[in-house]
This record gives sequence, structure tokens and C-alpha cells, in this order.
Amino acid sequence: MPLRALARVNLAAIERNVARLKRDLRPGTELCAVVKGDGYGHGAVPAANAALAGGAGWLAVVTAQEAAELRAAGVVARTLVMGALSDAELDVALAADADVVAWNERFVAELAARAQGAVRVHVKLDSGLGRLGTRDPAEALRIAEWIAAAGSLELAGAMTHFATADEDAAFMARQLETFTPFAAEMRRRHPGIVVHAANSAATVRDRATHFDLVRCGIAIYGLDPMQEDPLARELEPALELTSYLAAVKATAPGQSAGYGRRFIADRDTWLATLPIGYADGFRRAFSDNCELIVAGRRHPLVGTVSMDNITIDLGPVTDLEPGATATIIGADGGERQTAEELAQRIGTINYEIVCAISDRVPRAYHRDGAQA
Ligand SMILES: *Cc1c(COP(=O)(O)O)cnc(C)c1O
Repeated sequence: MPLRALARVNLAAIERNVARLKRDLRPGTELCAVVKGDGYGHGAVPAANAALAGGAGWLAVVTAQEAAELRAAGVVARTLVMGALSDAELDVALAADADVVAWNERFVAELAARAQGAVRVHVKLDSGLGRLGTRDPAEALRIAEWIAAAGSLELAGAMTHFATADEDAAFMARQLETFTPFAAEMRRRHPGIVVHAANSAATVRDRATHFDLVRCGIAIYGLDPMQEDPLARELEPALELTSYLAAVKATAPGQSAGYGRRFIADRDTWLATLPIGYADGFRRAFSDNCELIVAGRRHPLVGTVSMDNITIDLGPVTDLEPGATATIIGADGGERQTAEELAQRIGTINYEIVCAISDRVPRAYHRDGAQA
């Protein structure tokens, strides 16, 4: 019997996506593979190794613990921890030999006090996202001077992050206008630093955002930064999510399925129960609002998504039997369903669809169908 739910990840697809992104970079620009959030649900360590095999030169995560997990698995590549770090987290990041990000004096002082060797620090300018970083380029330059002057610290980079690279090109251009002169001044004062700004959307949209390094997350997994069909941008979705028909039963008019009796049959039909639910990350918002692919055909999800099960309507005539595989994300026969399509149904983005897939769903790794 198949597993109740399974996420199959094609590591060769991640490799190819990285190579494909690298192909369009400005000469000399390196690619940093973002593997935060357990590699966007794909598994941070296998995703990191695949990205490195595909030509990524750097890795990035958000938390110190995520960097520690990479190191524990033997991943030695240069790793940037992009998130805010509490003092306790800082020690974990330093122990993992990660690069860290700074934007205020207090943090730089804390870093200098805790650093054992030469800790590599990137200064962050908030050019418009309004989250981490300082809004004041002069302050960012001052912080960079402190870092450069501190014996235990090494000024490694200057960075910013875009708010609208996936939607509003005009605002991205304004952020770039703020960041570019700051980056030039940083480079003039501190030759050799690594300047970086672009996420996946900026990377594919505008080469002027590339600088020395691009930080690509969503696109390395073959998901589209603009929520369109990834294949149109030559990105290959690496993850497939499947479940299977655990029960198939005849249902008469008036009989219901699932909590709240949200579905009541109005004709004779066959319902199948699949053992996947919101504890697996299959969001409850898909209640009455999703289709699954079985044997190359789409079937509607009916009723409420519960914690552990969903039901689909196979119709009044079916030859499908228990054990048949049902595809949630991926292709089967001539049918295909993308994370982008699922996201659109419930008003979210592909990022949230794949990150939601919980630890209860085993990940299986392969390379184009062969054992990884
Ligand atoms: C998550 C993240 C990225 C990667 O974004 P994608 O849209 O997934 O490419 C880049 N930079 C920072 C600071 C991030 O937090």
C-alpha cells in the first residue's frame, strides 16, 4: 500500500533550477540558495546539497538553528543567517560559523563581545520593505565603519530586500535607487564586500538587481515567484504531493461525508476517503474548494477537510479502487496541478502551500525517478 501522504522531491530538478537561474545572472554574480523554513518544506539539507551541486555558491537561512542544522549534517558552504538574532541565538549562529546581518549599534556591540574569531557581518539597509534594517544610509555606513574597525568582526557585505519584486516593478525600482548609491559608497569605502539585494522575483525580473550575489529561494524549488505557471519561466517544480484512496464507498442521495455534513449527496455516487488532512498541512480552506488527480483525471474534494482525512467525489460510475494514488501537487497522466493553482484557490501564495506540508508527511528524495 502507498503511504498515507508522501512528498517526493526531485533533487535533480533543484539542481537544474539553480543552473537555469545562474545562466541568466550578470557575469560575476553568484547565487545564494535560500533554504530557510526547512527548504520551503522540501527539506533543508537535501535542498542545500542539490543547490550546491547545481552551482550555488552560498546558502541562506533565517534562524541560527537552521544554520546549525546544516552544519550538523556536514554542509560546509558559506551560510548567511538573514533573520534577527537574540543574544542566545547569536551564540548558536556563531558556533555554526554563519555570516550574520546587522543594522544597529547595540547588536554590533553584542556581536563584538561574543565573537571568538572573525565574524562576518552584512550591513542591512531598509530601502523600503519596512522590516529589518536601518532606513538611514548614513547610519548604515556608520555601522559598517564600526564593524570594519572591530578586531573580532569582518565587514562582509551590504544588503537590502525588496518589498514588491513580484508585483510592483516601479516600487522595486525606487528601492533600487535608494540602495544603489549606498552600495556604491560601501564598496568605495570597503572594497571586497559582497553586495546583494535580489530575491527570486527580482532576479528573474531585472538584472540591475543582481550586484555580486542573488538570494533565490522560491525559484530554486521550481515554484514561480510571480505565481504564474513555473514552466513558462523554465522552472521545474521539484515537489510532488500525493495521497491515496484508502476507502471507496457507494453513497446514496441524502448521505453525507465529513464534519458538519457540509457535503450531502444529491445522487448516487462513489466517494473516496484519503488519509491526508490539515495536520499534514493540507489546509482546511480547501474544503469544497480543491481537486485531486486520480488516474489522470480530476475529482472534486467534497465536504470539510478534517485533521487527518479528506473525501473526494469519484462520480456515479468509477473503476477506481482503494490503493489508487491521488496527486495533490504534481502530474498524473495528462493532468497537472501546481502549487500556484492551489494557492490561488485559497487566496495565498505557493510559498505557503509548500511550507505548510508538515513533518507528518514523509519526504522521499529521488533524482529524475532514480534513487537519490
Ligand atoms: C526569504 C528571503 C529571500 C528569498 O526570497 P524568494 O522570494 O523565496 O526568492 C531573500 N532574501 C531574504 C532576506 C529573505 O528573507
